[in-house]
Amino acid sequence: VAGATKRRRVLLKLSGEVFGAGKLGVDPDTIRDIAKQIASTVDTVEVAIVVGGGNFFRGAELSASGMDRSRADYMGMLGTVMNCLALQDFLEQAGVDTRVQSAITMGQVAEAYIPRRAIRHLEKSRVVIFGAGAGLPYFSTDTVAAQRALEVHADVVLMAKNGVDGVYTADPKKDPTAVKLDKLSYDEAMARDIRVMDQTAFSLCKDNNVTMLVFGMEGEGNVARAILGEELGTLVTP
Ligand code: UDP
Repeated sequence: VAGATKRRRVLLKLSGEVFGAGKLGVDPDTIRDIAKQIASTVDTVEVAIVVGGGNFFRGAELSASGMDRSRADYMGMLGTVMNCLALQDFLEQAGVDTRVQSAITMGQVAEAYIPRRAIRHLEKSRVVIFGAGAGLPYFSTDTVAAQRALEVHADVVLMAKNGVDGVYTADPKKDPTAVKLDKLSYDEAMARDIRVMDQTAFSLCKDNNVTMLVFGMEGEGNVARAILGEELGTLVTP
């Protein structure tokens, strides 16, 4: 529409740790809080979400204890869908229209992943929740967050982290001299071997010129603040 201003569009990545509050399964109080924060932003920002599944299964861990890696990864992907449904429920309770799109077809609970349809939902102020990762073993949901951000043309990837509020010069849990950075480039992040994100996600964002915000879940209202573009965490730029 001529004269219409383009709204900010974000891709938020919520890891399984966020959903489980550090435990196996989902923590309803945490999800309710996140849903309320997201609900407070949807009038002005288009929100797409990629959901992790580490609160249920991580393929690499299951395979280390003897399972076939691909099968274990599919279990991991199915776990993400349970998180999607929980988030969908609390978002709808908060009055937000939502759609779940799954990379593994399961028509009873989710739409299939159809990128153009996802964009249409976003334009209509629906929150789109992407589940089942890429539908491919050997991938992580961090990488999928970068890929989905590119495909739906998000302005920024917002990486919510538990237990850390941004990118540090070293692992702050191991090195007391570690200092938090407000900003760094993807090249610096990759050179420093920053483990807060997987390297594939970094390089996808770098090569395709997308900015990423790494921020901590600890702190009242941080998810809404990140969505609205307030200054927090660490900005990683091409
Ligand atoms: N997974 C996968 N392909 C994908 C995304 C996820 O195989 O495209 C599997 C993988 O086993 C992973 C699990 O799903 O360990 C859960 O995802 P992830 O570990 O990325 O979740 P998070 O760490 O964000 O909770």
